[in-house]
Amino acid sequence: MKSESDCVLSERDMAAASAARDPVEDLCEEATCSICLEYFKDPVSVECGHNFCRDCMTQFCEKSGTKKTSCPQCRKEVLQSNIRPNRLLANFVEITKKLSLQGLKREEGRERVCGKHQEPLKLFCKEDDVSICVVCDRSKEHRNHTVIPIEEAAQDFKVLMGIHQDVLEKEEENILAYKVETEEESQYLLVSRNVIKERENIWKTI
Ligand SMILES: [Zn+2]
Ligand SMILES: [Zn+2]
Ligand SMILES: [Zn+2]
Ligand SMILES: [Zn+2]
Repeated sequence: MKSESDCVLSERDMAAASAARDPVEDLCEEATCSICLEYFKDPVSVECGHNFCRDCMTQFCEKSGTKKTSCPQCRKEVLQSNIRPNRLLANFVEITKKLSLQGLKREEGRERVCGKHQEPLKLFCKEDDVSICVVCDRSKEHRNHTVIPIEEAAQDFKVLMGIHQDVLEKEEENILAYKVETEEESQYLLVSRNVIKERENIWKTI
């Protein structure tokens, strides 16, 4: 049989675990540049899939002084010509900012509540990109909107970012495959040119 102290402990553990998994905090972390430790400003993706503010990456590249540099996060080699803007991440940062601003309004130790209805903000309206309460959900304003639990919204953003990552990686593969193809082609051209030259030489000697 479980003793009473066991129950108290497990309850406390559960509270600690759920506090650690604040979805908004998770999102903020993913929206943070590892160079300046602030929200991404005009984010860019590098070949390895890591993201940085455009200015942070530009400054980092200037320091290296060559066309090649290494990823500030994982040290993998990065071609400056392959640095691309990540518009989806820029949107993600904007949404995260809104969510966390709402989070800042929450009073210490209390759940985030709706400014209009003083109810906990447990839902997220996909049309308006805002967290809302159950009363908001019933209101005219959001009645015909897609409303999902806030945890699900946080999860969706992460999935979305994951998909984008896959697309980037596929693009990378395509570019690499194309490079190999053109290299093979130029090799073929070189060989045929040599054959033609040889024939020309043979004709000359005839
Ligand atoms: Zn930065
Ligand atoms: Zn990297
Ligand atoms: Zn409300
Ligand atoms: Zn709405």
